[in-house]
Amino acid sequence: MFDEEVLKDLQVSMDRITYYTCPYCGKRSLVSEATIVSQKYKTISRETKIKTGCLGKMYAETTEVYSAYNIRICKDCARKQGIRTKTIALLCWIILPSIIGFIKMSWVSFFCSIFLGLILSGIVFCIVEQKVDVEDAFEKNAIAPPTD
Ligand SMILES: [Zn+2]
Repeated sequence: MFDEEVLKDLQVSMDRITYYTCPYCGKRSLVSEATIVSQKYKTISRETKIKTGCLGKMYAETTEVYSAYNIRICKDCARKQGIRTKTIALLCWIILPSIIGFIKMSWVSFFCSIFLGLILSGIVFCIVEQKVDVEDAFEKNAIAPPTD
C-alpha cells in the first residue's frame, strides 16, 4: 500500500538512478551514458622515503595519498575536453617546436623547444582545467561510485 508521499520518494530515487545533470553544461542526461572523469580533491599526506642502493646511490620515492571523486560528465563536454587537450598538446609539442626549429634552422633548437613545450603545456593544462564543485555535483547526482 503506497501513499502519494512514498510514491514521490520512489520516483525521486528512480530518477537519481537513471539521470544526472552534467556539472559543466547543466544538461540532464542518462547515467548509463555518462563519461566518468576522476578529479583530485585534497592531498591527505605526502611522504618521501629514501632507499639506498649500492655504491652510495639513493632512490627517493614520494607517495601521495589524496582523495578523489568520480565525476559524471556528458558526452558533449567530454568531447570538448578531449579536443581541447589534443589542441594544446599539438600546439605545444609539435607546432611550437617545429616553428622554433624552422626559424633557428636547427635540430637542437627543435628538440630543446619540445622540452619547453612540455613545460608550457603543463602550465596551460593547469590554467584551463575546470574544476567541478563537488557539493554542486553531489546535488546534481554527478558523482559516480568509486572505482578501484
Ligand atoms: Zn555537459
